[in-house]
Amino acid sequence: MIKITDLEKYYSTEEVRTIALNGLSFKVKEGEFVAVMGPSGCGKSTLLNILGLLDEPDGGSFLFNGIEVAGFNERKRSNLRKHNIGFVFQSFNLIDELTVFENVELPLIYTGVKSADRKERVNEVLERMQIMHRRKHFPQQLSGGQQQRVAIARAVINRPKLILADEPTGNLDSSNGNEVMELLTELNDAGTTIVMVTHSEHDAKYSHRIIRMLDGQKVTENVLADFKGI
Ligand code: ADP
Ligand code: ADP
Repeated sequence: MIKITDLEKYYSTEEVRTIALNGLSFKVKEGEFVAVMGPSGCGKSTLLNILGLLDEPDGGSFLFNGIEVAGFNERKRSNLRKHNIGFVFQSFNLIDELTVFENVELPLIYTGVKSADRKERVNEVLERMQIMHRRKHFPQQLSGGQQQRVAIARAVINRPKLILADEPTGNLDSSNGNEVMELLTELNDAGTTIVMVTHSEHDAKYSHRIIRMLDGQKVTENVLADFKGI
C-alpha cells in the first residue's frame, strides 16, 4: 500500500536549513499495523504529513497503492486524501462549534454523500464507537476518551483504506488509552491499514512491526507479530 524510497524533506529559513527526512525508506503492506517511534525531532510528524498527502517531499519516491504521488499537486493530493485516508490526532482536533454528529458527518459532506445516507452512516459508526448517546453533545462536554472515540468515528466515516494516527493516546489516561488502542486494533482486524506514531512502547505492542527513526532515517525494525496479509 505504501512504499517510500529515499524520502527527503528540508525546512529552510534565512539562516538554517533543517533536514527533517534524510533518505527514509520503508514499505507498509495493505492490512498491516505499523508503529513509528523515535525521539522528538527525528521527523515523525513530517513523515505523517507526507504519508497523509498534506505535504510533499523534496526528494525520493512515494508510491501509494502503486501510484507515484510524490509530485502530485495540492488538488490531486486532496482528492486522494479525502477518499483514502483517515487521521487521528493526539489532541482530537474536533470542531468545538459542531455537535458529535456534525463532526462525524463533515467528511461525508466533503465527499458529496447525500443527506439520508449521511445520517445512516454516521449513526452506524457512532454505534460502533459506543458514543451514540452523546451525538447531540459538543466536544467540550465529553471526556478525553469520548472525544477520541468521536475523532476515530470521523476518521473512519469515509471507509478509508489507511488510518494515520499521531500519538492517539497521548492525552488519555491508561484505561481510555487502552480502549482507543482496542478500537484501532478492531479496525485493523477488519482490514484497515494503520501507521501510528507513538512514544509509548505499550501502544506500539498493538502493532505488527515497529519502525524506529533517528535524524530523519530508519535505524531499526522490530517485527512483533507475523503479518500474514489480507
Ligand atoms: P518529530 O515529529 O519526530 O518530533 P518533526 O517531523 O516535527 O519531528 O521535525 C523534524 C525536524 O524538522 C526537527 O528538527 C524540526 O525542528 C524540524 N521542523 C519541523 N517542522 C518544521 C517547520 N515547519 N519549519 C522548520 N523546521 C521544522
Ligand atoms: P473522565 O473522568 O472520563 O475524563 P470527565 O470527568 O471529563 O470524564 O466526565 C465524566 C462524564 O461526564 C463523561 O461521561 C462526560 O461526557 C460527562 N461530562 C463532562 N463534562 C460535561 C459537560 N460539561 N456537560 C455534559 N457532560 C459532561
